[in-house]
Amino acid sequence: MRFRNSIRFDSNYHCHSSYCDGKKRPGKYAQIAFDGGMKTIGFSSHAPLPFKAEWAMKKKDLETYFRDIEDLKSNYAGKMEIYAGLEVDYIPRISSPQSRFIRSLPLDYTIGSVHFVDKFRDGAHFEIDGSTTVFQRGLGEIFHGDIRLLIKRYYSLIRKMLERAPPDILGHIDKIKIHNRDKRFFDEKAAWYQEEVLHTLEVLSATPTILEVNTRGFYKNKTSDLYPSQWILQQAAEMGIPVTIDSDAHHPNELSLGFEQALEAIKKAGFDTFWVLSNFYWKKRKVKHQQYRRDK
Ligand SMILES: [Zn+2]
Ligand SMILES: [Zn+2]
Repeated sequence: MRFRNSIRFDSNYHCHSSYCDGKKRPGKYAQIAFDGGMKTIGFSSHAPLPFKAEWAMKKKDLETYFRDIEDLKSNYAGKMEIYAGLEVDYIPRISSPQSRFIRSLPLDYTIGSVHFVDKFRDGAHFEIDGSTTVFQRGLGEIFHGDIRLLIKRYYSLIRKMLERAPPDILGHIDKIKIHNRDKRFFDEKAAWYQEEVLHTLEVLSATPTILEVNTRGFYKNKTSDLYPSQWILQQAAEMGIPVTIDSDAHHPNELSLGFEQALEAIKKAGFDTFWVLSNFYWKKRKVKHQQYRRDK
């Protein structure tokens, strides 16, 4: 499958600007989103972490981050809705979408994601979506080379987050497949894998959290499918789990990459609605009313 760069969509809540590991200031994002006809944009910098993580925001920048977004809200008032969010890591006892710190911030929403699974022997946190070399090192050093153990731990962390600290949006549920092109590490059709995912969807379905359809792995050519894979989306649709569509943009040019495919994927999976933030509330919108527009 190929993506088209010129599709415009109405909303995107997963955007990383120069405040973390994205390129360009929030103002540039807003301008490009507005020029492209978007109606809503949400910023979701990686929340600060209490250890060295190059891609996370610095705590000292939070104040200007929220002020910048506040300014954009007034500049675009009546023209485009702007929301202040954060993508918050779930790391037991270290970072959570419902921590006192996160709850003290002027946030409109949170995306809760698992990027770290346990620690290396030297105490460094193991990041599952770094390089394949790091992935292999973590798999070998922490999980004795047993991919099942690693994956089960990954999904158990997502379930813990959903049970203990449900975010508004669950970010890229199956990002653990990022290094799995050509089934290099596991087969998604294996019963043990599917059970793990289904168990996680069951937990998710008992929370108010919205499942994110995230196009980044797809348009960056890391995965052959979206996050989540089509079969997972189908199960989610059957279970009545709400979905939203995001591109996890790290540059304003990525604001709507892969959205045509995402819309097709949710339709195919059986969803007739998806969720959007409107006047500060999450609301359902009919899939058939969403237009994607091509640039002339
Ligand atoms: Zn993420
Ligand atoms: Zn992200």
